[in-house]
Amino acid sequence: MSKKPTAIKVEIIKPEKDRYCDHCKAMWGKVKDKFTKENVWHDKARIQASVLVVSYYATGKIERAYCSECRDHNSRWADGSIWPLAEQVSYFKVATNG
Ligand SMILES: [Zn+2]
Repeated sequence: MSKKPTAIKVEIIKPEKDRYCDHCKAMWGKVKDKFTKENVWHDKARIQASVLVVSYYATGKIERAYCSECRDHNSRWADGSIWPLAEQVSYFKVATNG
């Protein structure tokens, strides 16, 4: 695993409406609209996020929005085990309080 700064606190909140999944956006990116010629999110990038994970660091905070599919994917670790986000959060709470 690469060295990452340790989050001080992690919160999972409900994202606002029209907050798209960051992972899907990264995967599909933007496309040029046929009519307006403007860069718009790909259809498959416009997936309503179901969770918003906010990680607080000494230097600021990072928000990551996930749709339910990406959230499930994100809970799955390399060895095939499942570590649900909710448990990750309680782990971070324990890890940073002690
Ligand atoms: Zn997604």
